[in-house]
Amino acid sequence: MKINAAVATAPQTDLDIRELTLDAPRADEVTVRMVASGVCHTDAIVRDQWYPTPLPAVLGHEGSGIVEAVGADVTDLKVGDKVVLAPASCGVCENCISGHPQYCTDFYALNFGGSRADGSKMFDDNGAPISSNFFGQSSFASATNVRARNAVKVSDDAPLELLGPLGCGIMTGSGSVLNVLKPSPGESIAVFGTGAVGLAGMLGAVASGATTIIMVDIVPSRLEFAKELGATHVVNSKEVDAVEAIREITGGAGVNYALDTTGVPAVFSQMTKSLALRGHGVLVGAAKLGTEAPFDIGTLLTSGITISMVVEGDAVPREFIPKLISLHERGLFPFDKLVKTYEFADINQAFADSESGATIKPVVLY
Ligand code: NAD
Ligand code: ZN
Repeated sequence: MKINAAVATAPQTDLDIRELTLDAPRADEVTVRMVASGVCHTDAIVRDQWYPTPLPAVLGHEGSGIVEAVGADVTDLKVGDKVVLAPASCGVCENCISGHPQYCTDFYALNFGGSRADGSKMFDDNGAPISSNFFGQSSFASATNVRARNAVKVSDDAPLELLGPLGCGIMTGSGSVLNVLKPSPGESIAVFGTGAVGLAGMLGAVASGATTIIMVDIVPSRLEFAKELGATHVVNSKEVDAVEAIREITGGAGVNYALDTTGVPAVFSQMTKSLALRGHGVLVGAAKLGTEAPFDIGTLLTSGITISMVVEGDAVPREFIPKLISLHERGLFPFDKLVKTYEFADINQAFADSESGATIKPVVLY
């Protein structure tokens, strides 16, 4: 079928909106007519080839839409179902079967390889193949095919124009806090970076009852916004030493938990130094492959801290996304405050506004 898609052609170059042909869904896939897609920082870094997904490619990995066709073997979705799309995972490796599909042994190939597992690409441009299956979905397209396994059915009255980011940025921040760090009521956390991922982590911390929630960034307007949404303290690390500020706020002890969403080596280092004894820090911010960060193994040996590298909040999407929707419905997870919508035709403006910090979580509508 003919579809419209935004094609990434070269680093630092605007996406090109084109008509492409989408092939038929395979037996284990569904065709999804896209209603909306979030724009994540990871789309921009793959366009810029920090990760080598072959270009030209249809990126986009926070899609939400309606099932339009189902493959012969799909039994748990039907035409008309509303779905939120999540990253791909094989479903049969040790990590998938033990409930950690974000560490699927095929994660890289299935999400960044630019094709189905069998090597086929689902889009073509007048005979020229275009990379597909980005995060198992390539959601910057008016319709796409996804394996039923990575489509999460939501209720018939769910607000699809809002829910796409639950499939990546919002799931990553909130899942890192709720699934990995798991603060108890009354505990403390510092979040470095107040973009979509960091603020989703903060909202997760608020929902879990943490009572000292310190947000660190270098953009004053973002820090102000974090305060409105529930931060108990904000630190502008351009103006003050973040580690000293966090120690001062916590009476010298440091924080129980920390989340680095920046991927900046110096910030990662600050995170390791801001933790309390036996604290737990998570890195989710992406850096170029080969990036190393300073880590004082001499001083920190006796701290008992844990550092985790986390993908997509270590979530099982079919379990976690409905939980986030239910928290949102009850007013306990107001992630909609991060979202600004754009017409699909304005997708490059959405990228620019995300880059400049003007918009926290852009969502394009088809
Ligand atoms: P974003 O650009 O909206 O937010 C990043 C924030 O970090 C901004 O507010 C920026 O001002 C702040 N920042 C930058 N440099 C800083 C510094 N030196 N000190 C303090 N703050 C600084 O991005 P986002 O959408 O929130 O995504 C955050 C990161 O998470 C990206 O690198 C993205 O690729 C990555 N990501 C990872 C996963 C995963 O599974 N691990 C999933 C989604 C996104
Ligand atoms: Zn993402």
